[in-house]
Amino acid sequence: MNVAICCFCTWTLLVLFLWSVWQALREGIYQLRRLHQIPCSDCEFFTNDYRLKCTVRPFSACTEEAIGCSDFEPKTSSCNACQQRCSKF
Ligand code: SF4
Repeated sequence: MNVAICCFCTWTLLVLFLWSVWQALREGIYQLRRLHQIPCSDCEFFTNDYRLKCTVRPFSACTEEAIGCSDFEPKTSSCNACQQRCSKF
């Protein structure tokens, strides 16, 4: 009788552990897909400077708020983030 109870508990814990791992993986994949929807790195107004990430919406740049941003402009070769930094010399 004790063996059956131990076996049941072991299998229950194993199933719960695997279910927990599966849920964590699903949540991680969902979050990763969501973060890849942030368009700022392809936007004209993205500065690529941590001090001011966006000149139009500085507080929502690179966050989930930027998904579906109405000010998004596709990046061109003359944008700030594409420019080489000037040398001080
Ligand atoms: S304008 Fe919108 S999409 Fe473009 S960098 Fe700023 S927040 Fe991101």
